[in-house]
Amino acid sequence: MRKILGWGWGCGMWSFFDILCGMKTLEKIAAIDKALKAEFHAHEAPIIELVEAQTHDPFCVLVGTILSARTKDACTAGAVRRLFAAMRRKGGTTPAALARLSQDEIEKAIYPVGFYHDKARHLKALPGVLEEKFGGVLPNTVEELCELPGVGRKTANLTVAVGFDLPAICVDVHVHRISNRLGLVKTRTPLETETALRKLLPVKYWKTWNSHLVSFGQTRCGPLRPKCDGCPIRGLCRVPEGLSK
Ligand code: SF4
Repeated sequence: MRKILGWGWGCGMWSFFDILCGMKTLEKIAAIDKALKAEFHAHEAPIIELVEAQTHDPFCVLVGTILSARTKDACTAGAVRRLFAAMRRKGGTTPAALARLSQDEIEKAIYPVGFYHDKARHLKALPGVLEEKFGGVLPNTVEELCELPGVGRKTANLTVAVGFDLPAICVDVHVHRISNRLGLVKTRTPLETETALRKLLPVKYWKTWNSHLVSFGQTRCGPLRPKCDGCPIRGLCRVPEGLSK
């Protein structure tokens, strides 16, 4: 990891690399997106994409995204299924039905997702705050969504992009790490990465950038031992030779 941070970090090697690459930034972004899109379709879709495909409902996407934080997709999928079933028994997958569940019932449905106690508390409070601040209508901006309990920028961006199909870039640890490895940004935090990507990426890539890079981060470009051998975008990456050995 030290090698990644040390290699060319702020020393001007990035632009030299780009010259060697002979590729302008937009062409590089297009090539990365094309390759990672193919990788994405070769693996199972992330849980939030499945929730959207099955419900076409931004509120369900928001609930699923809250559950997915710091939790593996397989575990989130079970929790989503049990919670939505409990909500349907109370009338449907709506804020009103969620409000009819006790915090204990929510907790039992979503266990064992990470931080299930806190998430149950946030979900219990969600319908009331939604009613109080937005008249019961789920807002479609990142700033407004961040006013809801348990919703940070990552959750809000994913809800806007996947739930509402509006331009937003959700930056989690995978997107932050891989965007830096590829030399598209030079940032130290996910928020800095989100700001930099908003300036750099054409809007047409915003919605899928998260799902493509998260899938790639989970299957090949992990934090400690990325599988660089055979990587389809190795020629576009700044990670030095030998990291994968
Ligand atoms: Fe990740 Fe390695 Fe591919 Fe670079 S070459 S994108 S570090 S897997």
